Amino acid sequence: MIEEPDSWMTTTPSNARTEQLRHNLATVHDAIAAACAAAGRPRDAVSLTVVTKFFPEADVRRLANLGVTDVGENRHQEAQVKAQACADLGLRWHFIGSIQSNKAAAIARYADIVESVDRLKVARGLARGAAQREDGSPLKCLIQISLDPPGHGDGRSGVAPERALELAEFISQQPVLQLRGVMAVAPLGLPPEPAFEQLAAVAQTLRGQFPEAEWISAGMSHDLAAAIQYGATHVRVGSAILGPRPQIK
Ligand SMILES: *Cc1c(COP(=O)(O)O)cnc(C)c1O
Repeated sequence: MIEEPDSWMTTTPSNARTEQLRHNLATVHDAIAAACAAAGRPRDAVSLTVVTKFFPEADVRRLANLGVTDVGENRHQEAQVKAQACADLGLRWHFIGSIQSNKAAAIARYADIVESVDRLKVARGLARGAAQREDGSPLKCLIQISLDPPGHGDGRSGVAPERALELAEFISQQPVLQLRGVMAVAPLGLPPEPAFEQLAAVAQTLRGQFPEAEWISAGMSHDLAAAIQYGATHVRVGSAILGPRPQIK
C-alpha cells in the first residue's frame, strides 16, 4: 500500500481561501433565501452578483469553481484586465462603477451588463463600443438612479429619478443597447428602506413604458434583506463574501 505524503491532508493556504469563500457564499445564499421567504418572493426571483473589485484573478477562479456565474467590478482598468484574464471561465461581467465617458466604449467591449449608466454621454459611448462587440449581442444596460435626498451624498451616484425616463428613451433607441432596468446604492448613513421603496416606484414607471426593463439591482452586503423586501432582482455582494477590502483614499 502506498503511503500518502504527510502533507496530503493538510490545508494549503489556497485551499483555506477556497473554503472561506465557500462558507461565506453559503451564508450569503442563506441570507438571500431568508429575505425572499420573509418578503413572500420565490428564491429564484433574486440573483447574486459577487463584487470582486480589489480581489485577484485567483479569487475569481475560486468563485467560478464554487458555482458563481456573475461578477461585478467598479474600476475600468482593473475590470478589463480581470475579464480578459478570466475569459475562459464563461462568467458574466457586470460593470457597476462610475464611468468616465471617454472610457465607456472600452467598457462596452468586455462587460456583459453595465449597471451604472447615469447620463447621455455615457450611453453614447457605450453604444459606440457595443457596436464593436465580438459576439454582436446588444449590451445590457441598467440606469443608475440616485436615491440621495436633496443635499445628501456626493451627487455622482446616478441620475435623478425624474430624469430616468429620458435616459431610458435614448438607450431603448440604440439597437446595440438593451435596457434591462435600474440599479442603485442606498444613501450612506440613512435607513435604506425609503430609498429602496423609491427605487421600486421608479422601476415600475420605467417598466410601464419599457417592458424589458424588469431588473432592479439593489442591495449590498449590509442591506440586501431590505432591498429584497422592496423587489430587488439582483443583489451585489462584495465584502460579505470576499472579506474587507483594502482602504483607499
Ligand atoms: C463595492 C460595491 C458593492 C459591494 O459592496 P459590499 O458592501 O462590499 O457588499 C455593491 N455595489 C456597488 C456599486 C459597489 O461599488
